[in-house]
Amino acid sequence: MSSSTSFVLNGKALAQKIQCELQEWVRKQQPSIGRPPGLAVLMIGDDPASAVYVRNKERACAKVGIASFGHHFPANTSQKELETVIRQLNQDPRVDGILIQLPLPVHLDTVQLLLAINPDKDADGLHPMNLGRLIRGETGLRSCTPAGVMRLLEEHQIAVAGKQAVVVGRSILVGKPLGLMLLEKNATVTMAHSKTQDLRSVTRQGDILIVAAGKPEFINADMVKPGAIVIDVGINRVVRSDGTSQLVGDVDFNSVADIAQCITPVPGGIGPMTVAMLLSNTVLSYHQRETP
Ligand code: NDP
Repeated sequence: MSSSTSFVLNGKALAQKIQCELQEWVRKQQPSIGRPPGLAVLMIGDDPASAVYVRNKERACAKVGIASFGHHFPANTSQKELETVIRQLNQDPRVDGILIQLPLPVHLDTVQLLLAINPDKDADGLHPMNLGRLIRGETGLRSCTPAGVMRLLEEHQIAVAGKQAVVVGRSILVGKPLGLMLLEKNATVTMAHSKTQDLRSVTRQGDILIVAAGKPEFINADMVKPGAIVIDVGINRVVRSDGTSQLVGDVDFNSVADIAQCITPVPGGIGPMTVAMLLSNTVLSYHQRETP
Protein backbone atom coordinates (compact mmCIF):
# COMPACT_ATOMS: atom_id res chain seq x y z
CA MET A 1 0.00 0.00 0.00
CA SER A 2 1.28 3.48 -0.83
CA SER A 3 1.67 6.18 1.84
CA SER A 4 0.02 8.61 -0.53
CA THR A 5 0.16 12.32 0.19
CA SER A 6 -2.38 13.49 -2.37
CA PHE A 7 -6.01 14.39 -1.80
CA VAL A 8 -8.40 11.85 -3.26
CA LEU A 9 -11.23 13.45 -5.26
CA ASN A 10 -14.21 11.30 -4.33
CA GLY A 11 -16.50 11.16 -7.36
CA LYS A 12 -18.81 8.64 -5.72
CA ALA A 13 -19.62 10.96 -2.81
CA LEU A 14 -20.18 13.95 -5.09
CA ALA A 15 -22.38 11.88 -7.41
CA GLN A 16 -24.52 10.91 -4.41
CA LYS A 17 -24.82 14.55 -3.37
CA ILE A 18 -25.91 15.51 -6.91
CA GLN A 19 -28.45 12.69 -6.94
CA CYS A 20 -29.92 13.92 -3.63
CA GLU A 21 -30.19 17.47 -5.02
CA LEU A 22 -31.89 16.22 -8.19
CA GLN A 23 -34.24 14.01 -6.16
CA GLU A 24 -35.28 16.97 -4.03
CA TRP A 25 -35.80 19.16 -7.10
CA VAL A 26 -37.92 16.50 -8.83
CA ARG A 27 -39.97 15.92 -5.67
CA LYS A 28 -40.81 19.64 -5.52
CA GLN A 29 -41.53 20.15 -9.23
CA GLN A 30 -43.40 16.97 -10.06
CA PRO A 31 -46.78 17.88 -8.50
CA SER A 32 -47.17 21.01 -10.62
CA ILE A 33 -45.79 19.37 -13.79
CA GLY A 34 -47.94 16.29 -13.27
CA ARG A 35 -45.45 13.63 -14.31
CA PRO A 36 -41.92 12.51 -13.43
CA PRO A 37 -38.94 13.08 -15.75
CA GLY A 38 -38.43 10.13 -18.12
CA LEU A 39 -35.30 8.52 -19.57
CA ALA A 40 -35.42 5.89 -22.33
CA VAL A 41 -32.39 3.60 -22.40
CA LEU A 42 -31.85 1.60 -25.59
CA MET A 43 -29.63 -1.44 -25.24
CA ILE A 44 -28.87 -3.56 -28.27
CA GLY A 45 -27.32 -7.01 -27.83
CA ASP A 46 -26.06 -8.79 -24.72
CA ASP A 47 -22.68 -7.25 -23.93
CA PRO A 48 -22.27 -8.02 -20.18
CA ALA A 49 -20.44 -4.74 -19.40
CA SER A 50 -23.18 -2.73 -21.14
CA ALA A 51 -25.83 -4.66 -19.19
CA VAL A 52 -24.12 -3.65 -15.91
CA TYR A 53 -23.92 0.01 -16.99
CA VAL A 54 -27.61 0.02 -18.01
CA ARG A 55 -28.65 -1.54 -14.70
CA ASN A 56 -26.67 1.08 -12.77
CA LYS A 57 -28.24 3.90 -14.76
CA GLU A 58 -31.75 2.53 -14.21
CA ARG A 59 -31.12 2.14 -10.48
CA ALA A 60 -29.83 5.70 -10.27
CA CYS A 61 -32.93 6.94 -12.15
CA ALA A 62 -35.19 5.19 -9.64
CA LYS A 63 -33.38 6.87 -6.72
CA VAL A 64 -33.86 10.33 -8.19
CA GLY A 65 -37.49 9.75 -9.23
CA ILE A 66 -36.85 9.56 -12.98
CA ALA A 67 -39.07 7.03 -14.77
CA SER A 68 -36.90 4.78 -16.93
CA PHE A 69 -38.24 3.24 -20.11
CA GLY A 70 -35.88 0.36 -20.88
CA HIS A 71 -35.80 -1.00 -24.42
CA HIS A 72 -33.70 -4.12 -24.86
CA PHE A 73 -33.24 -5.31 -28.45
CA PRO A 74 -31.58 -8.45 -29.81
CA ALA A 75 -28.13 -8.02 -31.37
CA ASN A 76 -29.49 -8.49 -34.91
CA THR A 77 -31.99 -5.60 -34.71
CA SER A 78 -31.87 -3.53 -37.90
CA GLN A 79 -30.92 0.10 -38.24
CA LYS A 80 -34.40 0.87 -39.60
CA GLU A 81 -36.20 -0.70 -36.63
CA LEU A 82 -34.08 1.30 -34.19
CA GLU A 83 -34.60 4.55 -36.08
CA THR A 84 -38.36 3.94 -35.93
CA VAL A 85 -38.22 3.39 -32.16
CA ILE A 86 -36.12 6.55 -31.70
CA ARG A 87 -38.62 8.58 -33.75
CA GLN A 88 -41.45 7.27 -31.52
CA LEU A 89 -39.50 8.20 -28.39
CA ASN A 90 -38.83 11.67 -29.82
CA GLN A 91 -42.63 12.13 -29.96
CA ASP A 92 -43.38 10.50 -26.59
CA PRO A 93 -44.32 13.27 -24.12
CA ARG A 94 -43.24 11.12 -21.13
CA VAL A 95 -39.67 10.88 -22.39
CA ASP A 96 -37.20 13.72 -21.72
CA GLY A 97 -33.99 11.85 -22.44
CA ILE A 98 -33.00 9.13 -24.90
CA LEU A 99 -29.80 7.19 -24.40
CA ILE A 100 -28.26 4.60 -26.71
CA GLN A 101 -25.91 2.36 -24.76
CA LEU A 102 -22.61 2.19 -26.68
CA PRO A 103 -20.79 0.38 -28.20
CA LEU A 104 -23.29 -0.99 -30.70
CA PRO A 105 -23.08 -4.22 -32.74
CA VAL A 106 -20.90 -3.56 -35.82
CA HIS A 107 -23.73 -3.69 -38.40
CA LEU A 108 -25.31 -0.57 -36.87
CA ASP A 109 -24.38 2.99 -37.82
CA THR A 110 -23.87 4.78 -34.47
CA VAL A 111 -23.70 8.30 -35.93
CA GLN A 112 -26.95 7.88 -37.88
CA LEU A 113 -28.73 6.60 -34.75
CA LEU A 114 -27.43 9.50 -32.66
CA LEU A 115 -28.58 11.88 -35.41
CA ALA A 116 -32.09 10.42 -35.20
CA ILE A 117 -32.44 11.55 -31.56
CA ASN A 118 -34.12 14.90 -30.98
CA PRO A 119 -31.11 17.01 -29.79
CA ASP A 120 -33.23 18.37 -26.92
CA LYS A 121 -33.68 14.79 -25.64
CA ASP A 122 -30.02 13.85 -26.13
CA ALA A 123 -29.31 12.80 -22.52
CA ASP A 124 -25.78 11.65 -23.35
CA GLY A 125 -24.88 14.92 -25.07
CA LEU A 126 -23.41 13.08 -28.06
CA HIS A 127 -25.68 14.39 -30.85
CA PRO A 128 -23.64 16.35 -33.42
CA MET A 129 -25.90 19.36 -32.75
CA ASN A 130 -24.95 19.36 -29.06
CA LEU A 131 -21.27 18.85 -29.87
CA GLY A 132 -21.59 21.80 -32.27
CA ARG A 133 -23.16 23.90 -29.51
CA LEU A 134 -20.19 23.02 -27.31
CA ILE A 135 -17.72 24.13 -29.99
CA ARG A 136 -19.63 27.40 -30.34
CA GLY A 137 -19.78 27.91 -26.55
CA GLU A 138 -23.60 27.83 -26.63
CA THR A 139 -25.77 26.22 -23.96
CA GLY A 140 -26.89 22.69 -24.69
CA LEU A 141 -26.78 19.18 -23.28
CA ARG A 142 -23.13 18.35 -22.61
CA SER A 143 -21.42 14.94 -22.94
CA CYS A 144 -21.70 13.22 -19.57
CA THR A 145 -18.15 12.00 -18.87
CA PRO A 146 -16.36 15.27 -19.67
CA ALA A 147 -19.12 17.21 -17.89
CA GLY A 148 -18.54 14.96 -14.87
CA VAL A 149 -14.82 15.79 -14.91
CA MET A 150 -15.55 19.53 -15.05
CA ARG A 151 -18.12 19.30 -12.25
CA LEU A 152 -15.69 17.43 -10.01
CA LEU A 153 -13.01 20.10 -10.58
CA GLU A 154 -15.54 22.86 -9.92
CA GLU A 155 -16.82 21.25 -6.73
CA HIS A 156 -13.29 21.13 -5.34
CA GLN A 157 -12.64 24.72 -6.43
CA ILE A 158 -9.77 23.65 -8.62
CA ALA A 159 -9.05 26.66 -10.80
CA VAL A 160 -8.77 25.86 -14.48
CA ALA A 161 -8.30 29.32 -16.01
CA GLY A 162 -4.74 29.95 -17.13
CA LYS A 163 -3.60 26.44 -16.18
CA GLN A 164 -1.81 24.01 -18.48
CA ALA A 165 -4.31 21.18 -19.00
CA VAL A 166 -3.11 18.04 -20.75
CA VAL A 167 -5.72 15.57 -22.00
CA VAL A 168 -4.48 12.13 -23.04
CA GLY A 169 -7.01 10.65 -25.50
CA ARG A 170 -8.98 12.37 -28.25
CA SER A 171 -12.14 10.27 -28.60
CA ILE A 172 -15.43 11.93 -29.51
CA LEU A 173 -16.87 10.43 -26.31
CA VAL A 174 -14.34 11.86 -23.85
CA GLY A 175 -11.11 13.54 -24.97
CA LYS A 176 -12.32 15.98 -27.63
CA PRO A 177 -15.35 17.39 -25.79
CA LEU A 178 -13.29 17.57 -22.59
CA GLY A 179 -10.59 19.58 -24.38
CA LEU A 180 -13.29 22.01 -25.52
CA MET A 181 -14.81 22.31 -22.04
CA LEU A 182 -11.39 23.08 -20.54
CA LEU A 183 -10.79 25.65 -23.26
CA GLU A 184 -14.18 27.20 -22.53
CA LYS A 185 -12.96 27.66 -18.93
CA ASN A 186 -9.78 29.32 -20.20
CA ALA A 187 -7.27 26.54 -19.64
CA THR A 188 -4.37 26.24 -22.07
CA VAL A 189 -5.12 22.82 -23.49
CA THR A 190 -2.81 20.21 -25.00
CA MET A 191 -4.36 17.07 -26.50
CA ALA A 192 -2.16 13.97 -26.57
CA HIS A 193 -2.93 10.73 -28.42
CA SER A 194 -1.35 7.53 -29.65
CA LYS A 195 0.78 9.36 -32.24
CA THR A 196 2.13 11.91 -29.73
CA GLN A 197 5.92 11.82 -29.58
CA ASP A 198 7.63 11.80 -26.20
CA LEU A 199 4.36 11.55 -24.29
CA ARG A 200 6.20 11.86 -20.96
CA SER A 201 7.47 15.36 -21.74
CA VAL A 202 3.92 16.40 -22.71
CA THR A 203 2.15 14.91 -19.69
CA ARG A 204 4.76 16.41 -17.33
CA GLN A 205 3.67 19.87 -18.44
CA GLY A 206 0.15 19.39 -17.12
CA ASP A 207 -0.91 21.35 -14.05
CA ILE A 208 -4.07 19.37 -14.69
CA LEU A 209 -3.57 15.96 -16.32
CA ILE A 210 -6.64 14.09 -17.53
CA VAL A 211 -6.21 10.60 -18.92
CA ALA A 212 -8.78 8.82 -21.10
CA ALA A 213 -6.79 6.35 -23.18
CA GLY A 214 -8.10 2.93 -22.14
CA LYS A 215 -4.58 1.66 -21.25
CA PRO A 216 -4.41 0.12 -17.78
CA GLU A 217 -2.13 2.00 -15.35
CA PHE A 218 0.10 3.36 -18.11
CA ILE A 219 0.62 6.81 -16.60
CA ASN A 220 3.20 6.44 -13.82
CA ALA A 221 4.69 8.96 -11.40
CA ASP A 222 7.57 9.74 -13.76
CA MET A 223 5.06 11.07 -16.32
CA VAL A 224 3.34 13.47 -13.91
CA LYS A 225 4.35 16.98 -12.84
CA PRO A 226 4.79 17.01 -9.05
CA GLY A 227 1.79 18.73 -7.47
CA ALA A 228 -0.46 18.17 -10.50
CA ILE A 229 -4.18 17.51 -10.40
CA VAL A 230 -4.66 14.05 -11.95
CA ILE A 231 -8.03 12.90 -13.26
CA ASP A 232 -8.26 9.27 -14.35
CA VAL A 233 -11.16 8.57 -16.71
CA GLY A 234 -10.01 5.08 -17.71
CA ILE A 235 -11.89 1.98 -16.63
CA ASN A 236 -10.05 -1.25 -17.41
CA ARG A 237 -10.55 -4.76 -16.10
CA VAL A 238 -7.22 -6.50 -15.58
CA VAL A 239 -6.42 -10.03 -14.46
CA ARG A 240 -3.62 -10.11 -11.87
CA SER A 241 -0.92 -12.78 -11.75
CA ASP A 242 -2.79 -14.55 -8.92
CA GLY A 243 -5.80 -14.94 -11.24
CA THR A 244 -8.01 -12.33 -9.55
CA SER A 245 -9.54 -9.59 -11.68
CA GLN A 246 -9.69 -5.94 -10.75
CA LEU A 247 -10.92 -2.62 -12.17
CA VAL A 248 -8.11 -0.12 -12.67
CA GLY A 249 -7.74 3.23 -14.35
CA ASP A 250 -5.26 4.51 -16.91
CA VAL A 251 -3.13 5.93 -14.08
CA ASP A 252 -0.93 3.90 -11.75
CA PHE A 253 -2.76 5.19 -8.67
CA ASN A 254 -0.27 4.11 -6.01
CA SER A 255 2.80 5.72 -7.56
CA VAL A 256 1.06 8.86 -8.83
CA ALA A 257 -0.75 9.47 -5.53
CA ASP A 258 2.69 10.05 -3.98
CA ILE A 259 3.41 13.12 -6.08
CA ALA A 260 0.06 14.51 -7.26
CA GLN A 261 -1.79 17.21 -5.36
CA CYS A 262 -5.15 15.53 -6.05
CA ILE A 263 -6.12 12.32 -7.82
CA THR A 264 -9.33 10.48 -8.69
CA PRO A 265 -9.68 6.79 -7.77
CA VAL A 266 -10.92 3.99 -10.02
CA PRO A 267 -13.54 2.87 -9.24
CA GLY A 268 -15.31 5.70 -7.41
CA GLY A 269 -14.03 8.65 -9.45
CA ILE A 270 -15.32 9.71 -12.85
CA GLY A 271 -17.56 6.61 -13.38
CA PRO A 272 -20.24 7.68 -10.86
CA MET A 273 -19.90 11.32 -11.99
CA THR A 274 -20.81 10.23 -15.54
CA VAL A 275 -24.07 8.69 -14.29
CA ALA A 276 -24.82 11.79 -12.19
CA MET A 277 -24.41 14.00 -15.29
CA LEU A 278 -26.76 11.72 -17.26
CA LEU A 279 -29.43 12.20 -14.58
CA SER A 280 -28.71 15.91 -14.50
CA ASN A 281 -29.12 16.21 -18.29
CA THR A 282 -32.43 14.32 -18.12
CA VAL A 283 -33.76 16.59 -15.38
CA LEU A 284 -32.52 19.68 -17.27
CA SER A 285 -34.30 18.54 -20.42
CA TYR A 286 -37.50 17.85 -18.37
CA HIS A 287 -37.28 21.33 -16.88
CA GLN A 288 -36.76 22.98 -20.27
CA ARG A 289 -39.57 21.03 -21.93
CA GLU A 290 -42.08 21.68 -19.15
CA THR A 291 -41.27 25.32 -18.40
CA PRO A 292 -41.09 27.02 -21.79
P1 NDP B 1 -11.09 5.30 -27.20
O1 NDP B 1 -10.46 3.97 -27.40
O2 NDP B 1 -12.21 5.72 -28.09
O3 NDP B 1 -9.96 6.42 -27.29
C1 NDP B 1 -8.73 6.24 -26.67
C2 NDP B 1 -7.87 7.45 -26.94
O4 NDP B 1 -6.63 7.26 -26.27
C3 NDP B 1 -7.54 7.65 -28.43
O5 NDP B 1 -7.62 9.01 -28.76
C4 NDP B 1 -6.11 7.12 -28.55
O6 NDP B 1 -5.34 7.79 -29.52
C5 NDP B 1 -5.56 7.44 -27.17
N1 NDP B 1 -4.49 6.52 -26.82
C6 NDP B 1 -4.50 5.17 -26.86
N2 NDP B 1 -3.31 4.68 -26.50
C7 NDP B 1 -2.54 5.73 -26.22
C8 NDP B 1 -1.17 5.86 -25.81
N3 NDP B 1 -0.39 4.79 -25.59
N4 NDP B 1 -0.69 7.09 -25.63
C9 NDP B 1 -1.45 8.19 -25.84
N5 NDP B 1 -2.75 8.13 -26.24
C10 NDP B 1 -3.25 6.91 -26.43
O7 NDP B 1 -11.52 5.32 -25.67
P2 NDP B 1 -12.61 6.24 -24.89
O8 NDP B 1 -12.25 7.66 -25.00
O9 NDP B 1 -13.98 5.81 -25.22
O10 NDP B 1 -12.34 5.72 -23.40
C11 NDP B 1 -11.08 5.91 -22.78
C12 NDP B 1 -11.10 5.24 -21.42
O11 NDP B 1 -12.08 5.86 -20.62
C13 NDP B 1 -11.47 3.76 -21.45
O12 NDP B 1 -10.77 3.09 -20.41
C14 NDP B 1 -12.95 3.76 -21.13
O13 NDP B 1 -13.37 2.55 -20.52
C15 NDP B 1 -13.02 4.89 -20.16
N6 NDP B 1 -14.33 5.54 -20.10
C16 NDP B 1 -14.79 5.81 -18.86
C17 NDP B 1 -15.99 6.43 -18.70
C18 NDP B 1 -16.45 6.73 -17.32
O14 NDP B 1 -17.62 6.87 -17.11
N7 NDP B 1 -15.52 6.89 -16.37
C19 NDP B 1 -16.84 6.78 -19.83
C20 NDP B 1 -16.22 6.54 -21.11
C21 NDP B 1 -15.01 5.92 -21.22
P3 NDP B 1 -5.69 7.76 -31.11
O15 NDP B 1 -6.82 8.71 -31.30
O16 NDP B 1 -4.44 8.23 -31.75
O17 NDP B 1 -6.05 6.34 -31.41
